[in-house]
Order: sequence, then structure tokens, then C-alpha cells
Amino acid sequence: MSDLSVELTAPNGKKYTQPTGLFINNEWVASSKGNKITSINPTDETEIVSVHAAEPEDVDKAVAAARAAFKGPWRDMASTERGDLMYKLSQLVEQNKEVLATIETWDNGKPYSVALNEDLAEVAGCLKYYAGYADKIHGQVIDTTPAKLAYTIREPIGVCGQIIPWNYPLAMAAWKLGPALACGNTIVMKAAEQTPLSILVFANLIKEAGFPPGVVNILNGHGRVAGAAIAQHMDIDKVAFTGSTATGKEIMKSAAINMKNITLETGGKSPLLVFDDADLDQAVKWSHVGIMSNMGQICTATSRILVQETIYDKFVSTFKKQVQEVSKVGDPFKDETFHGPQITKAQYDRVLSYIETGKSEGAELLMGGEAYKNVGEGKGFFVSPTVFTNVKSSMRVFREEVFGPFAVIVSFKDEEEALEKANDTTYGLGSAIFTKDIVKAHRLARKIEAGMVWINSSNDSDFRIPFGGVKQSGIGRELGEAGLEAYTNKKAVHVNLGTWL
Ligand code: ADP
Repeated sequence: MSDLSVELTAPNGKKYTQPTGLFINNEWVASSKGNKITSINPTDETEIVSVHAAEPEDVDKAVAAARAAFKGPWRDMASTERGDLMYKLSQLVEQNKEVLATIETWDNGKPYSVALNEDLAEVAGCLKYYAGYADKIHGQVIDTTPAKLAYTIREPIGVCGQIIPWNYPLAMAAWKLGPALACGNTIVMKAAEQTPLSILVFANLIKEAGFPPGVVNILNGHGRVAGAAIAQHMDIDKVAFTGSTATGKEIMKSAAINMKNITLETGGKSPLLVFDDADLDQAVKWSHVGIMSNMGQICTATSRILVQETIYDKFVSTFKKQVQEVSKVGDPFKDETFHGPQITKAQYDRVLSYIETGKSEGAELLMGGEAYKNVGEGKGFFVSPTVFTNVKSSMRVFREEVFGPFAVIVSFKDEEEALEKANDTTYGLGSAIFTKDIVKAHRLARKIEAGMVWINSSNDSDFRIPFGGVKQSGIGRELGEAGLEAYTNKKAVHVNLGTWL
């Protein structure tokens, strides 16, 4: 059916076939009500294409397919064979990385070089990493008494609902698919409505790799419709979510309906501490990358920069220079661009409204603070990289997640005040410490309330290392060996070796 795919030419001239349907049971199907989501190019506000949006009935179909696959071919498959399929998928991603990165840039607005060299490398690498785990997941024999044999089996959880965000569309999909598939689960994934396209091309690769029908089902759909239907579904055993803290709380409530296992990776307002004994150039470079990469649309962005008062002025002037020199705003398909548009008009408006908040709260605008209209014909959701100084802990711009190119710089006197300010937040995702004093660095690493600490660095993320938050930044861990914990249950088997009661 022609309505289920369309031939497109991206702004960089790349031609490809864009599926537009729902991917259920390895087939492309239309939405039951024919509703659609239109993808907008954030660079120039043009419509790219409309895709089918799942209704609760479509979620039911996808769950039924996932359940059948779980009970049948997927569960019965040898673990090594499961790993082979995942490895094949990672290779197909590698072979198709240019087209996938092109769609990511077109649909999301991130620089093409980043989409290709960072996002797609992450997707292929993460799938390959977990492919290797598929046949290395095993239980234990636990010695108790001579009368008993006791052992554990690590079983897949079952049908997993996975709800992903728009800031790293394919990478977030890989983070969730990798461990879930390695452990033998089946999946109903919902992409974010802002970035519905790349995941559909990826879905074709799942079929091409040879996964049995129903193992991975991929839907586009609105959060409050399809997302909510997944979170509330009585035949879904687990829900994994990445997105805002507010939505995470709603999902947690919905998931209570059948006591689903949950993994949540939510918001952050991560601190970056610069002490006066730090390598200032390094601190400045990482501070810039930590907040301005991906246009600040990173849950772990180090958006609160805390600087020791003795070097505050020097840091501020050097940081400003760094942002001016490196954060080149422009068309994300151009090589020199570091900084593309925000994802949507809603996010663009949100960042601009926080700029007004900062001003009205009395923070000092160091740079940026406005929409950027010098790309193409002046359209697109571009915001100049924005930095506020003289920020107080009581201000909303210090406390609330903006999710944009928006940094606040605050001064502190000593280690004690630095820690107090760093931890003065409801969030606990990332944190960064710049100092040459290794004792202080490790002491703070223990005391800081965060799931991740970067010492003399910011925003490192590696699929071999656990990722996740504390406090209102989430529950559970993704990536690394820890990521497997989230997708298995441990069953205990007790065997009576004696003949007595
Ligand atoms: P944002 O506010 O940045 O759009 P969200 O956290 O709302 O981020 O969205 C992240 C993902 O959660 C998206 O796939 C979205 O469709 C989905 N989502 C939004 N609201 C709900 C909901 N009530 N139930 C389930 N999923 C939702």
C-alpha cells in the first residue's frame, strides 16, 4: 500500500524510502483510525511527512504479537542464535548509517556530523555490545545444606513497553532494545511524536536481520494516547521510559495497574563544580560541551556551573569566549555547524520563556538570550547559546530543567558550600568536578547526590558503563552489565536431595 511508505529526498540530497506505517509482527500496517503525526523540520519549519499514529487498539495488536513471539520462537531460540541476530542488526545499522544519520538530522535538527559519528556509532556499538551478552546471562548454584540443591535461573521479564524521547531517537532505542533483546524479552516500542522517522527505517533492518515476527514492534503515537496505553496495558510486564520527570511520574502511576516492573530515566539539573586548583582551559572546554552539545537537549547536561569565587571572573570571561568561538549556530547539514535548532516550537518557546524568567529574577545575562534568526530565510527554532551569571540558588533558572542551550553560573566559597549547592536540587543525574586534587575529587564523588560523576570531564556516556539517576532523576540503570538487571527476573529453584520432609 502506497500509504505505508513514501520516497523522500533529504536536504542533503540523500534519497531513500521512508516507511510511514506501524511496524507490528514484522509487517507495515495502518493505524486503526487513520490518524497521523506530521514530522516538522526544525531547521526551516517545513513539513517532512506524516506517519501513522497508533491508537490503543493498535497497541493491543502490537502487544498480542509480542506475547505470541515471547511464548514461541523467541523464548525457544538458543541464546547464541539470539546474539547472532543482534550482531547482524548492529552490522545493518553500520551499513545504513548515512541514511539513518540523515533522517536524524532532518527530523531532529542535530548536526549531521554528530548524528553520524556519535549517535549512529552509539547505536551500532550498543547493539553489538549486548549481542555479546545474549549467551552469557546465567544464574548461580547457591550452596546451602547437603540436603538441598538451590539454584537461580535468570528469566526474561516478558513483554516490555519501551517509551523513548526525541533528543537521541535511535540511540535511546538502542539503549533499550539491546539489553531487553539480549535477555530474551519481546518489545513494543513507542517513539517520540517529535521524531517519528528514523525508527521506521531502523524497523526494516530488524526484519532484514531475521528477527522472528513480533519480537520487536515499533509504533509512533501520541504520549497521552499510545504511550498511556502502553503504560496501562494489562499484558505488558515491564515499562522502560526516558523523558521528563513529570511524564515519568505519570507512567509510574499508570504502571501500578498491574504492578509492572519499571525503569525510568528522567530529568536533571546537573552541577559542574570548578575549583580554583583546576586546569581552567579544560574546565572551560568541558563546561561548554556539557551544556551546549545537542543544543542543551540532554538529560545529563551540566546546566548549573558552580565556580570557586577566587577564579569566578576569569572563568566567566574564558567561558564566554569559548561559547562564542565554538557554538556556531547554523544549518545542521553544514560541516561548520555546532548548534542547530531546538527540536520543536514548543521547546523553542520554553527556552525563550526561561530567558525571560532569568531576567525577571534578576540574573545577569552574559550572552545569548534571544532567538537566532540568521539561518536560511530566518525560519527554524534556533536559540542563541544563553548564559546567565550572578544566579542565586533560590531562582527558578537555578532549580528547573530548561532542556536547552541555557547555562547558569554560580559562585561558591569552599568545598562545603560547593557540595551544598550541588546537592540543592530535586534531581540527581549527572555531576562534574574539576580539580587537580585527587583526594578532594574522590571525596566529593562519594558525597555528591547523583547517579554519575565525571572527574575533570562532563557528560561521558559509554554503553559499557551504567547510566541512570537518583532522587527524581529516575529509577534503575541502563547500559553496561547493570542494564541486564533491568530485563531479567531471578527465579529460585529449591531441590530436595534427601528423602525426609
Ligand atoms: P517532552 O516533555 O520532552 O516531550 P515527555 O517526557 O513528555 O517529553 O515524552 C517522552 C516520551 O514519553 C514520548 O515518547 C512521549 O510520547 C511519551 N509520553 C508523553 N506523555 C505520556 C504519558 N502520559 N504516558 C506515556 N507516555 C507518554
